[in-house]
Amino acid sequence: MARVDADLAGRMSRWHCWSRRRVINAVDAAVRRCDPDAIRERERQEDRRRLEVTARGDGTAKIDGIVALDAAVAFDARLTELANGVCRADPRTRAQRRTDALKAMAEARRLACLCGATDCPNRSADTAPATRIAINVIAGAHTVLGGGSQPGYIEGYGVIDAEQIRVLAQNATLRLLAEPVVSQAQALRYQPTAAVQRWVRLRDLTCRFPGCDRPAAGCDVDHTIAFNHADPRNGGLTVPWNLKCVCRQHHRDKTFNEGWRDEQLPDGTVVWTSPSGEIYRTTPGGVDLFPDMASAPACQPPTPLARNRSGERTGRIARIRSRNRTLRPINEAHRQLQQARRREIGYRKGRNHMRKMLFILKGRPSTSPYCTWINDPPEPEELPPDWRPPPQHPQPDDPPF
Ligand SMILES: [Zn+2]
Ligand SMILES: [Zn+2]
Repeated sequence: MARVDADLAGRMSRWHCWSRRRVINAVDAAVRRCDPDAIRERERQEDRRRLEVTARGDGTAKIDGIVALDAAVAFDARLTELANGVCRADPRTRAQRRTDALKAMAEARRLACLCGATDCPNRSADTAPATRIAINVIAGAHTVLGGGSQPGYIEGYGVIDAEQIRVLAQNATLRLLAEPVVSQAQALRYQPTAAVQRWVRLRDLTCRFPGCDRPAAGCDVDHTIAFNHADPRNGGLTVPWNLKCVCRQHHRDKTFNEGWRDEQLPDGTVVWTSPSGEIYRTTPGGVDLFPDMASAPACQPPTPLARNRSGERTGRIARIRSRNRTLRPINEAHRQLQQARRREIGYRKGRNHMRKMLFILKGRPSTSPYCTWINDPPEPEELPPDWRPPPQHPQPDDPPF
């Protein structure tokens, strides 16, 4: 706790106008960095997973449960997808549509639209086409490919530990995330390239308005210095250091309501000035979790790319294969080390318990020649981060009472 406290205290002065969710993420990440054994707590919770449907007696029912993280994120994403598959004229609220989508999901159908129009394309609840749910996880390369213990982030969800990242990475498409190079022509086009949009969303993680934490996936990518449609050279460029995520509501407020002004610094910080002259600085959420993402200084010279598609494809396949080969033994070694750490803590707790029992039952050191460790002082029940199992693991022998 002292280490987490010192780590957070050093950075907290920059946490200006952060949302509650973002503070939770920062604390979660700090805990996982300081205490690799926190994984045990997660595993203990995972073992308690359950799902219950209970009648409430008024014709409705309550669904309540604890589920594994990947199941929860996929379930949530699928509900949203089904709920959004109806027209705007559907009379139900978003919450009601998500609830109705549960039945559609159980029956493997689409959610039928209730707008009432005879020509509505979403009227019938046909069998839903099989879809794959995409879950975006951001993590350091050393965590994904090596034995790193830096936590990662599931887009729109929160912080997850290194071991969960490696489990998810085994069946994932990996993409190296680097600040994209933007050509002169692309910088003068209004629409950012897919690579630039992806980078800006992952750098920001949420809406950049002070205190707002709507996930970046649903946000607009906004030009801080407005794009000049008549003369692009005299307006804001379409480059990462002039782009940021803002949710629809705050985008509208900024564009149509006089008063709020914003300025973006090369490191991605946005300085907002309120109508009353109050100043708020918001830093990108991704940079706080992954300091390597801090933006490179602006104005990189564009590098032309000569593409060789078949070569790229062969290279990609080779990279995936070699990654799978390297990943397997690393994951296995990491899992074994975690198991050994848990076992060691269990042994120490067991021995300490027996020492306590000896004191309670006899009140003096044991004189037995068989179990001399029982007279040793209590052992620490926490392991240093660099602890490795000794070559031979002796089981504690029976206490002499
Ligand atoms: Zn409709
Ligand atoms: Zn917002």
